[in-house]
Amino acid sequence: MKLVFFGPPGSGKGTYASRVGPKLDIPQISTGDMFRAEVAAGSELGKLAESYMKDGKLVPDEVTIKMFKERINREDAKNGFILDGFPRTIEQAKQLETITEIDLVINFKIDEEIIVEKALGRRVCKNCGQIYNVADIKRGDLHMPPLLPKEEGKCDKCGSEVVQRQDDNEATIKDRQNIYWQQSEPLLKYYREKNLVKDLDVVGPPDIMVPIIIETIKK
Ligand code: AMP
Repeated sequence: MKLVFFGPPGSGKGTYASRVGPKLDIPQISTGDMFRAEVAAGSELGKLAESYMKDGKLVPDEVTIKMFKERINREDAKNGFILDGFPRTIEQAKQLETITEIDLVINFKIDEEIIVEKALGRRVCKNCGQIYNVADIKRGDLHMPPLLPKEEGKCDKCGSEVVQRQDDNEATIKDRQNIYWQQSEPLLKYYREKNLVKDLDVVGPPDIMVPIIIETIKK
């Protein structure tokens, strides 16, 4: 399956992609994770990306598409993948079409107020990108309990330090939301016209969402 997980920053798509991917035996391809790895490595690409990421802005298409193409053309992505955070512009979607077709776009829908709370609570492993959350969100029937590592501040998967992302502060989160509505949301219309979109309301933590997502994909 060739899938795109779509939704505003903080909607949970990265967490879901990291859990659904292994169940379907396909890789998660996250351009955000790739940029963060470049920043951590101190590469030229990382320095360039960081200058946009710190303000919540999109890294220019030319740079993002080049990096993405190198990744998608690797052997492990031949039979399927989950794209997480790509495409984010119509130009990126058009470039993607020149490489491969997409089977399904899952659009995660979630209240904006919850997103901000969730994004502020997000923690990530510095090394492998595994996502945790310290927020305990309750709104009516919706309950999203914290998602904590077994040992405080230490990743369950690789043992590295778990930290808050530099761009997970209130001002940048709001900027990222605005950029999403201006530049990325129009993409949904583009994919809807191609009949590729299924909408999914975020109704709970990953343990509840993952089976719903898998059922949606297999339908
Ligand atoms: P994410 O982890 O998907 O929230 O991405 C974090 C940041 O990386 C974004 O705010 C952008 O600055 C950059 N980024 C990730 N994916 C893309 C993309 N497809 N196009 C442009 N910038 C991106």
